[in-house]
Parts: sequence; C-alpha cells; structure tokens
Amino acid sequence: MIKEWSLDTTDRRPFHEEPSVSTRHYRDAWMYMQEGKEPLYLDDGRTMFLPAGSKKGLTVEELSAYIQAMDSCESFEQYAEQRFAVWVVKAGENGQMATCSCPVGMKQRVCKHAITVGVWKGTITIPDVAKHAVIGQKRKRGRPTATRPALVRQD
Ligand SMILES: [Zn+2]
Repeated sequence: MIKEWSLDTTDRRPFHEEPSVSTRHYRDAWMYMQEGKEPLYLDDGRTMFLPAGSKKGLTVEELSAYIQAMDSCESFEQYAEQRFAVWVVKAGENGQMATCSCPVGMKQRVCKHAITVGVWKGTITIPDVAKHAVIGQKRKRGRPTATRPALVRQD
C-alpha cells in the first residue's frame, strides 16, 4: 500500500509556478496602461510603486508616508489608509510574473499591475484579442436609459 501511494505521488502533475492569466486580466491591464501611470522605482530596479485609484503618479512625500505607515503601524486607520493608496509591484525574475500588493494580486496572484509591469519589462505581450475587447465602450450599470422624444412641441 505504501508503495502504491508513493507511486501515486510521483505521478502527480507538476505544480504550476505561474498563475493562469485570462483574457480579462489582459484586457484590464490594457485599459490600465491607457491611463498612463507613472510609477516610482526603488534602487533595486525590480520594485515599483503605483498609485491606487485615479491618481497618475506618486510624489516622494506620498511614498514616504506609505513606507512610514507600513513600518510603524502607529494606528490601524493610518495603516489601512496607506495600505490601499499604493500598490507595490515587484517584477519577477527570469521572466516570471510580477507580484503585486493589491487585493486582486494577493488573491489571484495576477492582476493588471503585474501584467503592466511585465509589458514594461518586455516579458509579457498583451494578446490582440484582449485589445479588441476594449474597443466597444463598456455598458453602464443598471437599466439602459430610455429613449427620449427627439422633438418636443412647445405649446
Ligand atoms: Zn495589482
């Protein structure tokens, strides 16, 4: 029985080191890249900081505030506020996927930031199919707006 069991373990599929990247991930990354974000780099050449939300870039002061909050943890509010203000992306080594501190990156091990950094580093190419998916405008949430009469008579 032991022998069977050990045979079974050698037969397992190899562990996937790379997370699976869907067209949706690529599409999100492609749209993200159109926002023209400007990251700040660490001296190591691998680590970069991207602003969360609609901000285009980070100032050195904002980055310092982030690093200080991550280091000191003086108050939870301060930590939480800073934790989600900056995404820390580390480029992968030997062409591996980058890692990112955003919620999607933490959960799925791949996110638009990681892919974007891969594109910047030249290790990832966005497939054309993901670019084409963006051409149609995203439908707004909720009920479609009702058509209004083109002309209204004024009495
Ligand atoms: Zn991310």
